[in-house]
Amino acid sequence: MKFVFAENMDLVDPDYDFVKDRSSPEREPYWDDMYTHEMLGYAPYDGLLVSKGLFHDGNIGGKYSEGQEMRFKREGARKFLRFEEEKYPNTVMWGDCGAFAYANQEVPPFSVEEIIEFYADGQFTHGCSPDHIIFDFVDTEFDITFDDQEVKRRQQITLENAAEFIEKANKRIGNHFTPVGVIHGWTPKTMAEAAEKLIKMGYKYVALGGMVPLKADQIKSALNAVRSVIPKETEVHILGFAKADQVHEFIGNGLNSIDTTSPLLRAFKDSRTNYFTWTGENFEYFTAIRIPQVLSSNPLKKMVQSGQLELEKAVKLEKQAIKEVRAFDKGETTTKNTLEVLRDYWALINADKSKTDPTKVNKEIQVLTSRVEPTLKKQPWKYCKCKICQQAGVEVIIFRGNNRNRRRGMHNLSVYGDRVRELKGELR
Ligand SMILES: [Zn+2]
Repeated sequence: MKFVFAENMDLVDPDYDFVKDRSSPEREPYWDDMYTHEMLGYAPYDGLLVSKGLFHDGNIGGKYSEGQEMRFKREGARKFLRFEEEKYPNTVMWGDCGAFAYANQEVPPFSVEEIIEFYADGQFTHGCSPDHIIFDFVDTEFDITFDDQEVKRRQQITLENAAEFIEKANKRIGNHFTPVGVIHGWTPKTMAEAAEKLIKMGYKYVALGGMVPLKADQIKSALNAVRSVIPKETEVHILGFAKADQVHEFIGNGLNSIDTTSPLLRAFKDSRTNYFTWTGENFEYFTAIRIPQVLSSNPLKKMVQSGQLELEKAVKLEKQAIKEVRAFDKGETTTKNTLEVLRDYWALINADKSKTDPTKVNKEIQVLTSRVEPTLKKQPWKYCKCKICQQAGVEVIIFRGNNRNRRRGMHNLSVYGDRVRELKGELR
């Protein structure tokens, strides 16, 4: 099973100065910053996925600048992402329509031809047919409580696009490209019916869409239903596989590839499980140590402006908190002292909320303390062999700014990639 990572401009500055907390003034982000595969010195994933949603298109999406979009068009996805096949052999480069970005619209905002041009420009190895997401899903027909006309309409659009897509893509792009037919349905049965139609159109690779909000059991029932009606040699992908932790339940069950961002995202989007390790039996999760920057955090800046937070005092406690965590890393202070210093800072930056609801703030700080304590006791960053932890040390566990937070995400990707490889029996 291939693990594809969905690219979302996840770069860090390799020369970031953690002590001064800044990049070099000479830094040129596009050329100097590095992707996960560059930072780790290898790719923890089997491929990358680029969504059309990263590009500006009328009123939707767009994360790349105009210059980046032009370079992408000129160079293709691999060169743009510095993920050349010579350096990363046996990898794949997926293109996707980014249907989430236009899920609320009546119909997809671009034509099949436009998507094919996007895939041709990107020189992708795989590209998904232009789909229209169905969010509703139930395990049986009897449970349907939603507007079934709307889900039928969306499935119809997805299938019509798929028919046009495979015919035109084969003519326009040719043999090195694999068109992937996207399946949308609202029950396992309706997904299987869509899959059968895609097979008739000539698809040899199909992808289950709309799986992001589903439970692992629901994903499995959809996958099994689809598998039961398609030829054995047809490959199956799950788009936006958010059940990263349960990947072992899927390997060997007729699943050929997944794409996910969740190991990276949880490093800074999750309130609790920001850093993980593999114990040999399960993932062990740790909470990162939150020390937000007063001067670059918008909520904190507002508090300073409105006089709710004394800037000098805040900066002083912030510096102390970082200093204490670094001293702790060197064995120069205790867990108890470190937590005390951290709690002082957390209390200060929550001073505004304390005025209205002190009990709530106290409770939050208590919860945070109980989550951070195991992180300090186990010091997982010291035992990790990945290049990120080796180079950044304790900074990787501090929840603060892009350079620490994304590094932590890259560490998670390396742990996750190892786990997938181990499950496949091919760990280096
Ligand atoms: Zn690591």
